Amino acid sequence: MMPNQSETMLSFDAVSMQFATGGGLFSKSRPLHALKDISFELRRGEILGVVGESGSGKSTLGKLALRLLDPSQGRVRFRQHDLADYRGAALKALRCELQMVFQDPNSALNGRMTIEQCLREPLQLHRRGTRAEQLTEIRRLLDLVGLPDSAMARYPHELSGGQKQRVVIARALALKPTVLVADEAVAALDASVKAQITNLLLELRERLGLSIIFISHDLPLVQTLCDRVLVLYLGRLMELAPHAALADGGRHPYTQALWRSSPLADPSQRMLDEALVAGEIPSPLKPPPGCVFHTRCAKALPCCAVTEPPAIDTSPGHRVLCWLYEPTDSLESP
Ligand code: SF4
Repeated sequence: MMPNQSETMLSFDAVSMQFATGGGLFSKSRPLHALKDISFELRRGEILGVVGESGSGKSTLGKLALRLLDPSQGRVRFRQHDLADYRGAALKALRCELQMVFQDPNSALNGRMTIEQCLREPLQLHRRGTRAEQLTEIRRLLDLVGLPDSAMARYPHELSGGQKQRVVIARALALKPTVLVADEAVAALDASVKAQITNLLLELRERLGLSIIFISHDLPLVQTLCDRVLVLYLGRLMELAPHAALADGGRHPYTQALWRSSPLADPSQRMLDEALVAGEIPSPLKPPPGCVFHTRCAKALPCCAVTEPPAIDTSPGHRVLCWLYEPTDSLESP
């Protein structure tokens, strides 16, 4: 049964993140705007996809959700409490609630530890149960991710890529989190294993009521797996929509370009739309004025290079930042 999605687990409220880069004896440091003015909610039992090219701010968003970073502006809240207010024991307890599934199982798992040791480590660090109780818990975790008890005695190099990623997921579940951030968690896997791991995430969401932020550059995969999809470009939210609304390509020109440049797209359509996403992604150190996508957008209007588009709700729950959806009378003024 699908978990009730009415409770808000995590929320971003006008969050911006800047990093100072460069700087030295003879030069000033320059701000890099990794994220700007991002707002959304993650509901209980929801899988929210975050998609965009590299440099779009996806991983920064994941780190903010886990409180590995504090935002430069705005607030990130877990169950209505500002993450920045957590300290000491409360912060340690928060770390159990928010867990990460890493992209590369080879670097996420210590090759010198058996799978039992890998899974016992977080339980020991957080003093969860006696040794015997931990062993029972390790067996439960392996069963949850579809691995046999016999995997306990093995080392990571003795497992396949898919099995290793199952162990990484089991380890993330060891402290019974309510929110998982999966950052490119299936990017390193081949197609059939990718499908198995995404099915496993769906199963775990239903069995445990987990909320998941699924970060990926693969829009068709995200559209299939996730309940809602947030599209990022140069740290700005371009579109936030229920997954069904993206089945026909989405409304924002950048979402459309991502969709049509994917390997699943009809090749003839791909050729037609190449112009939509021509050119390189600009440097986040010097983002274009106006709409940050205007330098690559074949649908750009004169106002796009001058003024940032507002967030427009084109239908309930479907937000787009694009002048194309603004009523015509307000287009004349910017
Ligand atoms: Fe393209 Fe203008 Fe929309 Fe930006 S605001 S995506 S440049 S049409």
